[in-house]
Amino acid sequence: EQREQNALRTAHEWAAKWYHHILMNTEHGQRAASYLRERGFTDKLAQTFQLGYAPAMRNSLAGFLEKKQFSTGQLERGGLARIGDYGAADLFRDRIMFPIHDARGRVCAFSGRTLDGKQPKYLNTPETPIFAKSRILYNLHQAKTEIRRSKTAVLFEGYADVIKSWGAGVLNGIATMGTALTEEHVAVLKRVCEEVVICYDGDDAGQAAAMKCLPLLARAGIRAKVAMLPPGLDPDEYIERYGSEAFVRGIVEAAAAPAAFRLHYARRKYKLQTEEGKAGYLREASKIVASLPSPIERELLLKELAGEFEVSFETLKQESNEVRQELE
Ligand code: ATP
Ligand code: MN
Ligand code: MN
Ligand code: MN
Repeated sequence: EQREQNALRTAHEWAAKWYHHILMNTEHGQRAASYLRERGFTDKLAQTFQLGYAPAMRNSLAGFLEKKQFSTGQLERGGLARIGDYGAADLFRDRIMFPIHDARGRVCAFSGRTLDGKQPKYLNTPETPIFAKSRILYNLHQAKTEIRRSKTAVLFEGYADVIKSWGAGVLNGIATMGTALTEEHVAVLKRVCEEVVICYDGDDAGQAAAMKCLPLLARAGIRAKVAMLPPGLDPDEYIERYGSEAFVRGIVEAAAAPAAFRLHYARRKYKLQTEEGKAGYLREASKIVASLPSPIERELLLKELAGEFEVSFETLKQESNEVRQELE
């Protein structure tokens, strides 16, 4: 079994090298290379993240690996190929390849992105003996040093975000594999950091996913902060539009405490131009504030709300205290 795993790892190492070579040095990779360049992925970033290109041919990777004495069965068990009527067929075809490394830096899987809107946008290696999606954090192997030093990890939704942020100087960025954060991810993080800055996409899905991270991190005793992006943008697009400095200073370093984020998140459900909407929001806001353990934090937030909505601090405090008593 150990031997089989080693063989699968070696096959992945070869595959990553081969895909990267095709992207950087061959005619086949030119369309992909210019796609990446247009999106702001420099050659240096492509090297650091060992980006590659899987050709459109039916079995070019399989052919390459079979010459290296890997069996068709191994390619299938590693999630690199399928066995069809005409022998092995590559799983990834005509896709930009993002190698996925385990925490020790060994290639254990791939995610392949279409260049032309084909579905799915990202295709992942299925679960294999060397790849468990719910445990792997993309880029942890490279980010570990800075995560340990700063005791902080920045959690993104996508690979593109991790890579662009790296280019912007964020060297502690990681991402899940297109899935929600799991208990297993959190256990991995607990070993390397004290704080996680959640930096998900600015759309509703991203914000909802960020909300779901909070209780998981809190339960593990990891401090959380939430970076807030404008609604239409993800970190990758934000960096393209506004540049590295704006992203690092204005978004990552300006990340909000969980309570401030929850208030911000709750706001969107209410029509704040109407009295009814205001009252509804203030009731929910009082509840959010009431759930905070720190009296200082509670007082500061209530003062801010009172000022903004022109209600008295005493009224808000009373509302919040009533909720607190119900909680106790
Ligand atoms: P890009 O910038 O290349 O368009 P993205 O990272 O902005 O990609 P999102 O649509 O925001 O893509 O999705 C976030 C992440 O979710 C992706 O990086 C990928 O990990 C995962 N993902 C998206 N679509 C799929 C899919 N169809 N299957 C599996 N994972 C997916
Ligand atoms: Mn998204
Ligand atoms: Mn995105
Ligand atoms: Mn994106």
